[in-house]
Amino acid sequence: MSLRFYDTSARQVREFVPLREGSASLYLCGATVQAPPHIGHIRSGVNFDILRRWLTHVGYDVTFCRNVTDIDDKIIRVAAAEGVPWWKVSERNQRAFTQAYEILGCLPPTVEPRATGHVPEMIDLMRRLISDGHAYASDDGCGDVYFDVRSYPPYGELSNQRLDQVMESSDSDPDRDKRDSRDFALWKGAKPGEPSWDTPWGRGRPGWHLECSAMATKYLGPSFDIHGGGLDLIFPHHENELAQSRAAGDGFAQYWLHNGMLSVGGEKMSKSLGNSMLIPQMVQKVRPVELRYYLGQAHYRSTIDYSDAALQEAAAAYQRIEGFLTRTVEVLGEVATADRVPAAFASALDDDLGVSQALAVVHGHVREGNTALASGGKEQAAEIAGELRAMLAILGIDPLSEQWSGGDQGLREVVDALVAVALEQRQAARGRKDYAAADAIRDQLAEAGIVVEDTPQGSRWDLRRG
Ligand SMILES: [Zn+2]
Repeated sequence: MSLRFYDTSARQVREFVPLREGSASLYLCGATVQAPPHIGHIRSGVNFDILRRWLTHVGYDVTFCRNVTDIDDKIIRVAAAEGVPWWKVSERNQRAFTQAYEILGCLPPTVEPRATGHVPEMIDLMRRLISDGHAYASDDGCGDVYFDVRSYPPYGELSNQRLDQVMESSDSDPDRDKRDSRDFALWKGAKPGEPSWDTPWGRGRPGWHLECSAMATKYLGPSFDIHGGGLDLIFPHHENELAQSRAAGDGFAQYWLHNGMLSVGGEKMSKSLGNSMLIPQMVQKVRPVELRYYLGQAHYRSTIDYSDAALQEAAAAYQRIEGFLTRTVEVLGEVATADRVPAAFASALDDDLGVSQALAVVHGHVREGNTALASGGKEQAAEIAGELRAMLAILGIDPLSEQWSGGDQGLREVVDALVAVALEQRQAARGRKDYAAADAIRDQLAEAGIVVEDTPQGSRWDLRRG
């Protein structure tokens, strides 16, 4: 079975045939860094991290470019409200995004370009478009440069609209001198007090759409394989990227993949709701790996309607996987990751990245593995656990991986030693049948957030969550 994706542009599932054999190039619209990320932003990161890991697993040499939009109207507004330079806002929030991606185990992109570092490439693209009659500098000399949508008849192809259905573009001030209300800004002329860069058409700053075309082309070439982003970016952002790049003669993206939105109570996440869903707040509720499991488990194109209950269910599902692997390691010492994944898992991911079906295979393995362990089938348990680890590595949630087991390892060792002392005292108290003292030690640990579980192999502890 071959790898295939739902391509927004074709409006159907298409077999993935890369432009260059053995390589896959992927561009993902990254953050506009006007605020720190909430889980809706990071969902996209998790979805495309799984895609990237799967492409790598099946043998592609993946070049993954995820940009940072570090200049934009909203960033300028936040900076003005705080009385700080725009770059302080961008820098601070970009760091928050990087930490969020890291904490959720998203591998760093091959390259992470920032818009303001690519002004020469944007000027070059505008020059090509102007010389071919697809763009024009505003006649009033304000420094705006517009894309002429009527010069490019396929405009609307990605979002499946005819040109006469396309709404007017709202990305410039109403009094600016545009030839057609649907023309969108490639470049925005400077306003007093705003950051600006020199161009042959006057000072100004990049339009959002132009940035992505310039950066994707610089790092992935004029034609590349996959362009990703949230469903809300199809129009106008991706439509405009596609139009300006194709009009300039570039092949641009061959496949368009869009992830679904994350809603709360059926509504798009608003700023007030979003604030309670920032990553530091969310990892108070569950561990980062459990949050990743939650965000990654649904099909990437589906809408996730957030609920605490669903988050806790996801955490419990992850803990079942973790529990089996922990017990297996206790019995077998260690578990080596298998080289191959089960065929059913592979075909689930090949089929437009069917993570939910892939997770059904994962949980099937956990059930079989538990049965094997219970009946003393060590070899069988080892084999199942090895395959399980291979699958979990692709989903980025292997509990035995360095990311999820190595974390606060130093601190964990210290706490481990301290808790071991307390548990020895508790054991001693039990030995002399002083159950009140034994229970008191257990209660004191619980108060400190340490949960003790008694197993046939001895007492085990963990941090209480939630
Ligand atoms: Zn973009």
